[in-house]
Amino acid sequence: MRYISTRGTAPALNFEETMLAGLARDGGLYVPEEIPTLSHDQIAAMAGQPYEEVAFTVMRPFIGDTFTDAEFRELIAAAYDSFGHDARAPLVQLGPNHFLLELFHGPTLAFKDFAKQLIGQMFQKALGRKGDRVTIVGATSGDTGSAAIEAFRGLDNVDVFILYPHGRVSEVQRRQMTTPIESNIHALALDGDFDDCQARLKDMFNDFEFRDRVKLAGVNSINWGRVLAQVVYYFSSAVSLGSPAREVSFTVPTGNFGDIFAGYIAKRMGLPIRDLVVATNQNDILDRCLRGQGYHKGRVHPSISPSMDIQVSSNFERALFDAYGRDGKAVAQLMGELAKGGFEVSQGAMQALQEHYKSGRASEAETSATITRALKHTGELLCPHSAIGVKVADEQREEAIPMITLATAHPAKFPDAVEAATGIRPDLPPRMADLFDRDERLTRVPNDLEALKVHILEGLSA
Ligand SMILES: *Cc1c(COP(=O)(O)O)cnc(C)c1O
Repeated sequence: MRYISTRGTAPALNFEETMLAGLARDGGLYVPEEIPTLSHDQIAAMAGQPYEEVAFTVMRPFIGDTFTDAEFRELIAAAYDSFGHDARAPLVQLGPNHFLLELFHGPTLAFKDFAKQLIGQMFQKALGRKGDRVTIVGATSGDTGSAAIEAFRGLDNVDVFILYPHGRVSEVQRRQMTTPIESNIHALALDGDFDDCQARLKDMFNDFEFRDRVKLAGVNSINWGRVLAQVVYYFSSAVSLGSPAREVSFTVPTGNFGDIFAGYIAKRMGLPIRDLVVATNQNDILDRCLRGQGYHKGRVHPSISPSMDIQVSSNFERALFDAYGRDGKAVAQLMGELAKGGFEVSQGAMQALQEHYKSGRASEAETSATITRALKHTGELLCPHSAIGVKVADEQREEAIPMITLATAHPAKFPDAVEAATGIRPDLPPRMADLFDRDERLTRVPNDLEALKVHILEGLSA
């Protein structure tokens, strides 16, 4: 299995190289040269299997000879061992033919644990046998960072620096990043918004001298290994509702387009997915784009669903690459236009996008109202991100097709928004109940590449 860049000029890599590289050297994102398919029988055989078995079957065709079968099974087992639910990704029913896929039973209570825990295991294995070390720098709107920290804390061959927008993550999110005591973990509070964090991260990757000097690796949602791990729960949930004999649809609270793109990969692999619905908050640049209004950056408007507060949706580049017939030159040109403010999508590419993705949005008031309503009608407490999914799913679902809405975070990660909508302050699960009593450790950093490089070099030598 070879991986190629969405901008067409970086060299093709194998799975291990793709995972360790993160971003391609031409600024693009890696995608599989060909998407493997699973037969009807292979998918049917997943029924009743543990999550880890489904994970092995779904991901095995993508990893080539990076790991043996036995090694890969061990890595998967270790990755999900720390989850607080034996089903890993359980389904709960919300209403007639509407289901909630709970992806928040991992160590940081958000779906990013599915990918991060596995990537942590895979990095450790691949680096350990080479006797190599890397520096992981990630930009987070809240959840990616804590998930990366949980995945790598205390590992010998990895230093982790996480950039988050100062004052713009929830207290639970911040504390999950600032309270780990391991010396290989560094939380950097950047004076700017999430897009600034992402931009400085990209700058670092494009500074080849620095990149090579610290052996920079990325585990943000652009890392192919991360997208891959997220393909699994589309299969596990669909099969438990009767796939492949039955079609299902998914609604996905979306920011960087990583999670929904994993759904698209599942569909291309042969899972009978009818609709993939992108749900956005008031930062609805993706919804507008998918409705044919072009992709034009504005300001980020902070919301009660901060993990979806974006203007630049990194993984959307992967969707554009396929929509433009895998023309790396065309994608490179669009990304050049985006750097100056935005771009229009060609008519052919628009048709291709709309063939695979539907979309909708929820305002702040609609998000709150959905949290209130879900509690009243189902007894479930939803986090604001999941509530956006539920609101959009209710608008778009067809009666005869089961709709699965992804619940991307635990309500206790966003207690203020949940309390405002319901009067109930959700409790943290017992395993993290002392989070508010732990000491915090963080460094404030300016929104400036050179200053950041200095902080990272100092952190490494500390
Ligand atoms: C990251 C995140 C999202 C958005 O996922 P993408 O893969 O970036 O589209 C949605 N909800 C929560 C809680 C998240 O942490």
